[in-house]
Amino acid sequence: MHPRLVRKVIFPLHEKIVGRKTFAYLKSLEKEQWLSPQALNALKAQKLKDLLVHAQRNIPFYARRCAEAGFDPEKMTGIEDLQKLPLLTKAEIRKNLRDMLWKDCPGGLHRYNTGGSTGEPLVFYFDRRRQAYDAAARAMSHRWWGIDIGDRELYLWGSPLEITRQDRIKDLRDALTNQLLLSAFEISEKNVPGFVAKMRRFKPDCVFGYPSTIDLFCRMAERQGYRLDGMGVRVVFCTAEVLYAHQRQSISEAFGGIPVVDSYGSREGGFVNHQCPEGSYHVMDSNYIIEFLKDGSPVGPSESGEVTLTHLDAWGMPLIRYRTGDMAAPGDGRCRCGRGFSTMSQVQGRTTDFVVTPDGRWQHGLSVIYVVRDIEGVDQFKIVQEDYDDVRVFIKVYPELYPSDGDERIVRGFQKRMGSMVRVSVHHVEDIPRETSGKYRYVVSRVAQWGLPPSSGVS
Ligand SMILES: [Zn+2]
Repeated sequence: MHPRLVRKVIFPLHEKIVGRKTFAYLKSLEKEQWLSPQALNALKAQKLKDLLVHAQRNIPFYARRCAEAGFDPEKMTGIEDLQKLPLLTKAEIRKNLRDMLWKDCPGGLHRYNTGGSTGEPLVFYFDRRRQAYDAAARAMSHRWWGIDIGDRELYLWGSPLEITRQDRIKDLRDALTNQLLLSAFEISEKNVPGFVAKMRRFKPDCVFGYPSTIDLFCRMAERQGYRLDGMGVRVVFCTAEVLYAHQRQSISEAFGGIPVVDSYGSREGGFVNHQCPEGSYHVMDSNYIIEFLKDGSPVGPSESGEVTLTHLDAWGMPLIRYRTGDMAAPGDGRCRCGRGFSTMSQVQGRTTDFVVTPDGRWQHGLSVIYVVRDIEGVDQFKIVQEDYDDVRVFIKVYPELYPSDGDERIVRGFQKRMGSMVRVSVHHVEDIPRETSGKYRYVVSRVAQWGLPPSSGVS
């Protein structure tokens, strides 16, 4: 399908049929991104007030919260008033879901769910306005990189939900909108030739997906002698996981030195930030109020805290002060590109990407990832912390390259970082299984999954 036809006819028609004002929102976002921080703050304050007045009037859960906090949204004076309301956890959403919905929402409510990093599903609902804003934010930030609506987009993606839903209608819609989905679950040495052939036929302008999956695919293809450069891919967009520097480099090289761009969002949280060509992570300020919190209070400049979201355009099921469990630091907001949208650091990981030492230190997973990556001949690996003093390292190696003291070096390296009382076992395996979400995670800590204690410091 010609990109212009998709951009000018098919996509607008699709959005109109489902009742989404994606193009109108895209137009306003494109203007708002250049506003001054002061003007953006005024816009956010007004949108926040509208959201809170609506939530108090129409949504029983928030009516209760406002009453309990003695808070009247009509009398709001600024964004900081938001702090009078309590934080919202995933557990509260599960418990109160029915009471969190706007029964008379125009265009209806659309059910989604997420597997969640601990395997506990979270059900939530989207309205058309929110879907349209998230889609508009995505379209705008792809334009920053020269990719427009209708350009050919390859998804290396897969959640169980999307795969089971993938029926003929979706295939047809994908073909009409120049999208192709290759399942992240099915990436294996055996499937690489078929995947490469599909890509060559499709000729994507950009690739979109989990960095771990794209990186794995690139390395498998390279090993089998397939070249991915010269296919016409101009940029790779990564999301939904931490994009590590080594992945960025290896993906970029595989496609012939093109930009690999990071963004942050989640199914429930929406489209939160995106890198601009200057490298900054710009927050979609028109749609969000983001707080970075530690022990319930805002962190200092460039200090890390838990990302807490208020989605200003989620009216069907408002998310007000939603705790994401992701860690990041606020930026100073200035970027050479001249956009007024605020900045933040790269998300350093979910609380569950950390390992917890027997003496209670939360260490970023990278501290132990580097130990394994430092040893030659390691192809794939996964680190599982079962308990404070029980760490298991699963590795797939090239036997001819892996050194004879490799296991010993891993054990020593882990004990040096986490403490000598930690028992470390190294298991050589044929294959590293992926998570049920289709993502590939280097570090899984059962201890971290029990939750971040309120007083713990993550730095
Ligand atoms: Zn910028």
